[in-house]
Amino acid sequence: MSGLLSVDADRLLADLTTLGGFGRNGAGGVDRASFSAADLAARAWLTASCVKAGLRVEVDGIGNLVVSSPSLEEGIADRAPVWTGSHIDAVPNGGMYDGPLGSLAAIECLRRLHEEHVALERPVRAIVYVDEEGNYAHLLGSSALTRGFVADELQELRGRDGDRFADTFAAAGGDLQAAAAVRLTPGSVHASVELHIEQGPVLEREGVDVGVVSGIVSIGGGTVRFMGRADHAGTTPMDARKDAVLAAADFITRLPALVPRAGAASVVTTGIVRARPGGSNVVAEEAEVVVDFRHPATEKARQLEELISAAALDVARERELQVNLDWEPLVPAAPMHQTVRNAIRESAAALGCSTRDIPSGAGHDSQNLATIAPTGMIFVPSVDGRSHSPSELTRDRDVVHGADVLLGTLLRLAAAQPAAATQDSH
Ligand SMILES: [Zn+2]
Repeated sequence: MSGLLSVDADRLLADLTTLGGFGRNGAGGVDRASFSAADLAARAWLTASCVKAGLRVEVDGIGNLVVSSPSLEEGIADRAPVWTGSHIDAVPNGGMYDGPLGSLAAIECLRRLHEEHVALERPVRAIVYVDEEGNYAHLLGSSALTRGFVADELQELRGRDGDRFADTFAAAGGDLQAAAAVRLTPGSVHASVELHIEQGPVLEREGVDVGVVSGIVSIGGGTVRFMGRADHAGTTPMDARKDAVLAAADFITRLPALVPRAGAASVVTTGIVRARPGGSNVVAEEAEVVVDFRHPATEKARQLEELISAAALDVARERELQVNLDWEPLVPAAPMHQTVRNAIRESAAALGCSTRDIPSGAGHDSQNLATIAPTGMIFVPSVDGRSHSPSELTRDRDVVHGADVLLGTLLRLAAAQPAAATQDSH
């Protein structure tokens, strides 16, 4: 890969280690919810290291960090920029790669372009999206940019700990009116690309270096509530009960055989089950199952919702109790743009990295960006497919591969002659 511009691998790996120390807990995981003390300290560190490198950091109205190179933007600052970035907030007891990899690699790429005074046709900017993991709202920062919030909606938001977003945001220097005004117009971003860990086992299992994300899945879900009858656990014969928990269990165990009917890529998860009144000696009157289902195609996700609804109604009829279905609006699938996917493939090929197309089963800020700009994502392998856990790990070589592929992709999207100058020399 001589002749190709590459990232400073040691600097990037050191940055990952440093960022992973903010919010590190006794279990080896990372607690860094958005706007927590650890998150604010991490943002301050990140800002200082960008400024030290000669970059400019701006905070937009909702709290996204926008990093740019003033010298590279001379004469081109008014052109629609290429965006790259991810998030640095974490789920409770999360890992140190989900988000930080794409954020730090974006900044490292910009730092290298800045150091080498690379002539660009349009600006490259690194973005750190606020609250991707949804302490207050899933994909908060990118949702504010792409669909916008009204101030009243932001007033309603509460954090996992029950705090009001408005209070926490104000304490951090934020202003709700400014937050409601950050919405971007389509066309204001030329293209967007995000590097992220796969968070699944496919790339590692197949020995592939880089995943070219084909699209982000459609996500649906909601609550299925079975309503039976509370009875005495000792005196009510088994055949005289309307046990809501048994209905819920029956419903849950039907799902794995049912959902493939909407296609092999269907997944369904029932991670929360609640019983009421919740006594060991009381037949449960109510049982609630929170359902999450996903498919790469929106239409198939809609079909999943119908199949799951039908199963719940079947169970209720067979067991002679009531059921209530409360589905959230379906989040549509976000296909990634061919132009960006091609740029990723070319960049990987120039580096000798193997690629495959892969759907993203997880939600990302890129699904929002895809609604206003050509968008793509680069995945690198997760060891054992683990994520959202202290076991989350991406090997150093894959971190560096991913960052170098990102850099080549940015050059292709932002340079006048995509990569010609760099490829000829190798
Ligand atoms: Zn993430």
